[in-house]
Amino acid sequence: MLILICNVGSTSLKFRLFDMPEERTLAESKIERVGSANNSIFAFKNFNKNLEFEQEKVHVPDYGTGINLFLQYLTDGEYGAIASVDEVTAVGFKTVHAQGVSGIRLLNEEVIQAMEKYISIAPLHNRFYVDAIRKFIEILPDKPMVGVFETAFHLTMPPEARTYGIPYEWKEKYGIQRYGFHGNSHRFITNKVREISGKEEFKLISCHLGGSSSITAVKDGESLENSFGFSLQSGLSHANRAGDIDPYILVYLMKEEGYTLDQVLDDLTKRGGMYGISGVSNDLRDIQKSAEEGNARAKLAIDVFCYEIRKFIGSYYAILGGLDYLVFTGGIGENSVMVREKVCTSLAHLGIKIDLALNREGPKERFICAQDSPVKVLVAPTNEEIGIARDMFAFFN
Ligand code: ADP
Repeated sequence: MLILICNVGSTSLKFRLFDMPEERTLAESKIERVGSANNSIFAFKNFNKNLEFEQEKVHVPDYGTGINLFLQYLTDGEYGAIASVDEVTAVGFKTVHAQGVSGIRLLNEEVIQAMEKYISIAPLHNRFYVDAIRKFIEILPDKPMVGVFETAFHLTMPPEARTYGIPYEWKEKYGIQRYGFHGNSHRFITNKVREISGKEEFKLISCHLGGSSSITAVKDGESLENSFGFSLQSGLSHANRAGDIDPYILVYLMKEEGYTLDQVLDDLTKRGGMYGISGVSNDLRDIQKSAEEGNARAKLAIDVFCYEIRKFIGSYYAILGGLDYLVFTGGIGENSVMVREKVCTSLAHLGIKIDLALNREGPKERFICAQDSPVKVLVAPTNEEIGIARDMFAFFN
């Protein structure tokens, strides 16, 4: 069964075609700078033919043009991985958030409208996904479009972890509660621990640290809590987005300092997080370099980020009643020796004994703890796409 996964960014489209259940990747493609006239970059890889190319200055003014371009190469006689799109069973998306909808769902008009209802709380995701999904439906009207929602893995969160101390009717009427996100990545990591340990029962804290970061407490394979709340503008500090803040910061800025809601929201999503604190960059590599050169705000940004990570790990340790596995994944989790070292060395009292040499180098997936560490610490690359393809295979079989 051929399953096509499409990952939608605000200015990018990524595609991967899987042959399931063998989990073979047949083709992969990426279009960057979607929307800029004659200046997009198109990359395509056919794994069977071992053929790969990248082309610059391509004209991809919108998602529809990008999807058509990819499908044209996918089915091309010379470059293509398949003879016709008829061979594809369904198209899958890592959908983020929708009012009253989670799990794995066929993306019909009702579900798409539920996603539109939450555009204001997932502004960096929902608008773009809805646009790309509608274009896909226009181009391939007979193919099922499927969303695997980022909230799905967290459906097991108990009511006490979900519920805010707000008027109860806000929860009932508008669905205002903690949802948790990054579910596809945290589920992939949970399955990885299952596979490595050979166990079904374990206490795990999964740290997905990247441009957007979150931490999940997992008990016996089920999510108990995630650091994101109602929206993705919460939890840890992100690249450009503020994490958890006191809502009265907005009240103060708007009532006393004359900010408009749009200004505050723009600042919180574009000028917040690691970028906001450091004033240097939204990329940890730049921030680290600047901190090493003596920039105090860059150092503070790193200190805040690592402090927040420790705080979540500590509270999840309490909720889980102990810890067996601590896993780092995502662009920062997989690559930042410094963040892992800072976090783990300060948590030795929880039984986390990092091995500094193993932390510094080794294969992409490896344990980075001492042999006698009570908590096993793992670095593992995430693979959300394969998780989605597995879910879709199960959905159609
Ligand atoms: P997104 O959440 O947007 O998918 P990623 O998971 O790719 O982002 O993570 C991006 C972050 O990973 C950036 O802050 C970048 O600095 C960080 N990163 C990537 N490689 C390294 C590295 N070798 N060392 C430290 N940080 C890194």
